[in-house]
Amino acid sequence: VIDIGQPEHSVVTTCAYCGVGCTFKAEMRGEELVRMVPWKDGKANHGHSCVKGRFAWGYANHRERITQPMIRASTSDPWREVSWQEAIDYTASEFRRIQQTYGRGSVGGITSSRCTNEETFLVQKLVRAGFGNNNVDTCARVCHSPTGYGLKTTFGTSAGTQDFDSVDHADVIMVIGANPTDGHPVFGSRMKKRLRQGARLIVIDPRRIDLVRTPHVEADHHLALQPGTNVAMLTALAHVVVTEGLVNESYVRERCDWDAFQDWAAFVAQENHSPEAVEAFTRVPASDVRAAARLYATGGNAAIYYGLGVTEHSQGSTTVMAIANLAMATGNVGKLGAGVNPLRGQNNVQGACDMGSFPHELSGYRHVSDDTARQLFEAMWKTELDSEPGLRIPNMLDEAVAGRFKAIYIQGEDILQSDPNTRHVTAGLEAMECVVVQDLFLNETAMHAHVFLPGSTFLEKDGTFTNAERRIQRVRRVMAPLNGYADWEITQMLSNALGYPMHYEHPSEIMDEVAALTPTFAGVNYARLDAAGSLQWPVTTAAPEGTPTMHMEGFVRGKGLFVLTEYVATDEKTGPRYPLLLTTGRILSQYNVGAQTRRTANVVWHEEDLLEIHPHDAEERGVKDGDFVKLASRAGETALRAKVTDRVAPGVVYTTFHHPLTQANVVTTEYSDWATNCPEYKVTAVQVSPSNGP
Ligand code: SF4
Repeated sequence: VIDIGQPEHSVVTTCAYCGVGCTFKAEMRGEELVRMVPWKDGKANHGHSCVKGRFAWGYANHRERITQPMIRASTSDPWREVSWQEAIDYTASEFRRIQQTYGRGSVGGITSSRCTNEETFLVQKLVRAGFGNNNVDTCARVCHSPTGYGLKTTFGTSAGTQDFDSVDHADVIMVIGANPTDGHPVFGSRMKKRLRQGARLIVIDPRRIDLVRTPHVEADHHLALQPGTNVAMLTALAHVVVTEGLVNESYVRERCDWDAFQDWAAFVAQENHSPEAVEAFTRVPASDVRAAARLYATGGNAAIYYGLGVTEHSQGSTTVMAIANLAMATGNVGKLGAGVNPLRGQNNVQGACDMGSFPHELSGYRHVSDDTARQLFEAMWKTELDSEPGLRIPNMLDEAVAGRFKAIYIQGEDILQSDPNTRHVTAGLEAMECVVVQDLFLNETAMHAHVFLPGSTFLEKDGTFTNAERRIQRVRRVMAPLNGYADWEITQMLSNALGYPMHYEHPSEIMDEVAALTPTFAGVNYARLDAAGSLQWPVTTAAPEGTPTMHMEGFVRGKGLFVLTEYVATDEKTGPRYPLLLTTGRILSQYNVGAQTRRTANVVWHEEDLLEIHPHDAEERGVKDGDFVKLASRAGETALRAKVTDRVAPGVVYTTFHHPLTQANVVTTEYSDWATNCPEYKVTAVQVSPSNGP
């Protein structure tokens, strides 16, 4: 135990890791941060935290932090440190030159779910108003974009319907494609507490996650389906609900589109959607599916929590809609203890999406072709806006390879490591004439950049994050930015240099603009956030204190919409060369590609990525626990150590994606969600064979 003495003062701020959004007291001695203490009044964490938020902040002062802007004419040249003025002027002149040469649509930007609401709002404003197009996208493209599509279509807005506290009123908890005890630890503990009190548990996941069997908690049903069969499984659950008379008809008649429901009920009732019919490819006994459906429909308040195991599939959006269908049919949306809840991976995925980071939507999920909404922005921003949706990240890369997209401004995102098909991303970046990366460290994407603008950590800025329960919370500056500027100030400098003026003195002014332009944020400002601690959107005149549970009086879209969810098998097939299916996830002590956790001094952060393989498959290949193995797919190969375990079923292997050395994304495929292009990270046909190591 290190005696750090008494802190001199403290600042309350919000964790920058996962979407739980724990708040902390950053305890300071002078200008030095000495300790992060979970804040007892934090509405999302109630004084709890996990190891990442509490201990993994050392990266802020890591020696690899870049604090001086750098430019280079070609990516084969060495970097040259320059002043901020020179870096901003150079970037602006390059973007102007490229737009004059190749047209307005030849440039774009990417916002970051790691940055604040105010910063993402400003990047999309720069693109729409400064660049004059809608070529803005966000890293949510590769995680929860299907949530955006699926929940907007069925319920009318893209957000979890419950607050975390209402898990205390759940009688049945269904976890689909998520691993809350590792991915969302503080909420995972909360969930476990409710389960110990007697709530029933259904887990739908190819892998036996901790919640399935952990001290004092045992799932009633673990439907260990084959990766890629979510839609078939959820439609089979719906089949049981409809054919066994378990529909909450009065709820559906009152709250939902009745005609759409009838079409849907007839569809799911077809025999080919029965648990027995799909058992051959889901590999889950029909009797288990029937029992789980009965428990979900009749067990009281039923709450669904889902993660990337739902969204990162070629049918990710369809799966989200299948979840929504099931919840509406049983009356489990819009009341305490029941609902549909995407567990957001990054701290501000919800916020980045809310702020208008998608190429087709302005803040508050209003389509760019919506004249009324667009005119509101045009009047405030004093410029004409494009009514056509812009390019998504994968389309920007396609267009770059085709020679039509030439420059990109990337704030806080390492697309080379986190996006699928590394070769294609590399080709796209290499084809551009100006790649601008704004980040803390020289990440993999920066290897292909022409301008590097040093970014700032969450400890060095004011702003807000919005967590997975739509809770807007303050981020407060704890220390001065090592690089000299918060990220929003850098975007503002760039915009001014480009000739589109921005003159914010403080992020609170950006939030005031968000509130003026976004109906769901109408009552949000820093004074109210400071007084209340947090607010859950929608914050409107009808709900001035915010909205813990959504859709209580009716769905945002009016009547809830049932959507037919036909199962279509992924094009990624196993065969003699690649006979196993790989799926991926996270561990508690690491975070995404590890840029922060690996740069924090503590041995726990250096756990390596392991490949979980069933004893039967391991034996067949002569692989023993701890051996190095080669993991190969049609896309590429990597080497990592094997962990022989029956957590995965025969035929399925599993790994995490936290280390650049093992780079799980080099083996993942080019397939993506039909509606949103979210990559199909969760299903890859692979072969595993003995190896001598990387
Ligand atoms: Fe941070 Fe998430 Fe851990 Fe809370 S649970 S401390 S938000 S990483």
